[in-house]
Amino acid sequence: MTYVILGSCVLDTACLDACPVDCIRPRPGDPDFQVAEMLYIDPASCVNCNACREACPIDAIQSERSLPGDMHAYPAINAGYFDHVHE
Ligand code: SF4
Ligand code: SF4
Repeated sequence: MTYVILGSCVLDTACLDACPVDCIRPRPGDPDFQVAEMLYIDPASCVNCNACREACPIDAIQSERSLPGDMHAYPAINAGYFDHVHE
């Protein structure tokens, strides 16, 4: 289980500062940031600390465990962002 960012993310980057393991991407300055539609959590690094969820002003971060059924695609969407990073 991990935390996931949902499509309602408004890219204000509050979660980036909160994450103790720096597993949220892209960051301002990364090539992808200017064209990003949302941010993404790397499930391989997330330690499920809840800090990002507490920092998010619009509840765009949820535990994968508690996602409502219509949000079931978001774990794969978050993980998929990192596929090219880990290749
Ligand atoms: S739950 Fe913790 S480790 Fe995981 S993305 Fe959020 S702040 Fe980072
Ligand atoms: S704090 Fe919430 S709205 Fe802001 S970038 Fe992170 S997930 Fe998106």
